[in-house]
Amino acid sequence: MTDQQIYSVLGVGFGPANLSLAVTLEELGWTGRSRFVERAGDFQWQDEQLIAGADIQNNPFRDLTMPRDTGSRYTFVNYLASQGRLTDYLHLNTKFPLRREYAGYLRWVADAFRGSVDYGQSATRLSVVDTAAGEVFRLETGSGREYLGEKVVIGTGRSPRIPAVFQGSLGSSVFHATRYLSSMRRLKGRDLKVAVVGGSQSAIEIVLDLLNRPDVGQVVSVQRGIGFRLKDTSPYSRRVFLPEFIDYFYPLPSEAKQRIRAELRSINYAACDQDVIDRLASVQHEYELMGSDRLRMMTFSEVAEVTPHAGGAVNRLTVRDVHHGTLSAYDADVVILATGFRDFGLGPDDEHYHPLLEGVADRLALNDYGLPAVARDYSVPVKQSYGPRPLRLYLNGLCEASHGMGDAGALAVLSARSTDIVESLMLEPDAVPGRDGRPAADGLLTERLRDEALR
Ligand SMILES: Cc1cc2nc3c(=O)[nH]c(=O)nc-3n(C[C@H](O)[C@H](O)[C@H](O)COP(=O)(O)OP(=O)(O)OC[C@H]3O[C@@H](n4cnc5c(N)ncnc54)[C@H](O)[C@@H]3O)c2cc1C
Repeated sequence: MTDQQIYSVLGVGFGPANLSLAVTLEELGWTGRSRFVERAGDFQWQDEQLIAGADIQNNPFRDLTMPRDTGSRYTFVNYLASQGRLTDYLHLNTKFPLRREYAGYLRWVADAFRGSVDYGQSATRLSVVDTAAGEVFRLETGSGREYLGEKVVIGTGRSPRIPAVFQGSLGSSVFHATRYLSSMRRLKGRDLKVAVVGGSQSAIEIVLDLLNRPDVGQVVSVQRGIGFRLKDTSPYSRRVFLPEFIDYFYPLPSEAKQRIRAELRSINYAACDQDVIDRLASVQHEYELMGSDRLRMMTFSEVAEVTPHAGGAVNRLTVRDVHHGTLSAYDADVVILATGFRDFGLGPDDEHYHPLLEGVADRLALNDYGLPAVARDYSVPVKQSYGPRPLRLYLNGLCEASHGMGDAGALAVLSARSTDIVESLMLEPDAVPGRDGRPAADGLLTERLRDEALR
């Protein structure tokens, strides 16, 4: 079924990134028609890891809109007030709200935009098609729907990172953390032995949650490093979440960007908050006092092989010490991969670009490395022969390599980034490309963006 309208803005994904975009479009007075397509049946925010007691890692005032407009009706504070919970929340004197509370806030905002979102639609292909009005984007979904649009904003989040050794074993007993809660609900059995792979915040939260489950007999944490490490929460390091940092980072040569990202990696990756580390260390100490092996730490270790249905358990893991090279075996009923998300770049685990860009890849401006050249306003220049208006493609939350560490995984930058994108969307070039063959890429704006992106 084709939705014959040509939308001014088509958003793919309706998580926090494109939700913030919807808020900004409304608040900055966008008058064009916009539509969002979301895979989930209803609004959700990382539902699969909505673990009891987990809090957010972000000052809740840096919400979808407050850094731009303190008077916005969509602030976290307004949400609390609208639920009659503001005083209770303030009384709690907590630094970070529970993830459950913040998910409630995001859902409350999303409800205000229900009319602009088609839920239960998984975008499967993006292409450029010729219509009577000229070239426009076509977005196809898994259920056979098609949407046409002049500007597309991809806000899908990144793909889960599945290390190669697990790729043939994924299923009901080997799964990524993004499927944690639903997979655990489906598991049957008692005294389960569960391996959690990774040293991230998600990994430690899952280990703690598993230890609270009566059907779990033993949890083994397998990680390459020395054990769960502390996140870099220095206010100086956290400057990466400031809009000024993006201005500093964006024009740097790619080697400098890689160096900064490596140096500041523990802001976001393979590192955990103090509270969960303290909690786990104390739980571990208590098990040791009781002589219990319910929690095992396999550190400086990586899984070298997975053999299904071995040793009476569902999966036999061959684990290698990363320094000595010695091998040991662990039989696990369940293996949970808290192994993070794939970056965009040239690394062995990286994706060159989001899979949805495959159908338009030959029209995108590429940089010297063959990767999409993203401009400061998060757009990727698109070649077009003619159309109602120049085609524009934006990446909302997929630009860590070009825009810095705040981009991929932080709520803190949402409002600044969506403001940049909407301001750019509103900058229409004077020239509308026509059927006379005058290429849209000659439009002043597109030319400027391409120069900037390729610099
Ligand atoms: C468990 C967890 C906790 C986190 N907690 C914090 C935190 O406390 N603070 C913080 O700053 N960051 C946190 N993050 C980082 C997180 O990435 C951001 O908070 C935020 O979710 C990013 O928003 P997003 O919209 O870019 O991506 P997502 O939240 O991943 O949303 C993307 C949306 O796009 C949809 N989608 C994907 N593909 C398609 C498709 N093909 N078609 C249609 N729809 C699609 C998805 O269903 C999803 O709803 C957390 C991440 C995780 C995994």
